[in-house]
Amino acid sequence: MLYLTEPDRLGDLLEDQPAYRATQLREWLYEHPVLSTQAMTNLPESLRNLLAEDLWPFTVDVAQSADAGETVKWLLRCHDGAPIETVLMGYRSRTTICISSQVGCAMGCTFCATGQFGFDRHLDAGEITAQVAYANAVMSEYPLPHSPPRVSNVVFMGMGEPLANYGNTIESIRRMIEEMGISARGITVSTVGFVPGMRRLIEEPWPVNLAVSLHSTIPSERSKLVPINDRYPIDEVVEAAGEYYLRKGRRVSLEWTLIAGENDSDEEAIGLARIARQIHAHVNVISVNPTPLSNDEPPDRDAIRRFVGTLRREGANVTIRDTRGKEIDAACGQLRMRSEPHRDGSLRP
Ligand code: SAH
Ligand code: SF4
Repeated sequence: MLYLTEPDRLGDLLEDQPAYRATQLREWLYEHPVLSTQAMTNLPESLRNLLAEDLWPFTVDVAQSADAGETVKWLLRCHDGAPIETVLMGYRSRTTICISSQVGCAMGCTFCATGQFGFDRHLDAGEITAQVAYANAVMSEYPLPHSPPRVSNVVFMGMGEPLANYGNTIESIRRMIEEMGISARGITVSTVGFVPGMRRLIEEPWPVNLAVSLHSTIPSERSKLVPINDRYPIDEVVEAAGEYYLRKGRRVSLEWTLIAGENDSDEEAIGLARIARQIHAHVNVISVNPTPLSNDEPPDRDAIRRFVGTLRREGANVTIRDTRGKEIDAACGQLRMRSEPHRDGSLRP
């Protein structure tokens, strides 16, 4: 399993090969990923054949594109059958990938398709990193129409709570930065407010971005939407986020999934703006994507305008996040929920 092997140990897989083969392989895996070992032209054919089956830690169940080809979503299937979702989004000046860190999630947020599934298992550092490498490999053959043909930005906003899978998340971040050459400033870890992980992340050497999914400022309401609030209450989450900003010098973003009648009141907007001012954070508002197992609805346009207007009036910096790939269920956990996988293993997007 090439991506499941620590980069330093790749040589162990190449017993009777000269030492420089490990360096060559490392370059193919991380610096210039390719879809098939056959494209690893400086390796002997016998070795390419030997490694062929072990290149990717998953096969492709479903690949879909939207937004005139600038959004691609994959439902990947790990070798134990575990499904993971990855979404690639091209913009003029950057190419962003949204990756999964776990199969399912134990946090149980009521509006989230992944949370509704429950937790299956952690992803290995190699399975996390390989999502980025796979996208780069696809783009080396099929670039997005108007976007850089290489991942420049990574967001941990797919399935799972990355800070509850701390060791694998951090090792994947290390590989992205040190092996793949992605800038730490282009990487965003999104957390539901898993405080011990936030505190550990502060101590890491890399200035990655931190996004904190808040969704409510009223403790009893937040506990309803985000049950982990009972264990790590909002005050502790905000304190850790504030410390992250002070220690790392990186502005934290506060994620707010807006749900009609749940968290779109003036009271919530005023509370959110107060927190944003207090810790110099940026607010990202996104309308909820309805999921089959909940009745949550996005607010209408006027309610969104009102909520964002109140936030701005109260001095918060706000962006309304665009929802890429709506028609392909690109929101968290949704492709897995609705698709009937065809399992043809095809690699083409
Ligand atoms: N577990 C982490 C990262 C994965 S979820 C976290 O919760 O931050 C990434 C983002 O998607 C979170 O901000 C989450 O609130 C949001 N999200 C989940 N389900 C959603 C839905 N149905 N509609 C809109 N956003 C959703
Ligand atoms: Fe897990 Fe994030 Fe979904 Fe909550 S929103 S259930 S933390 S993936």
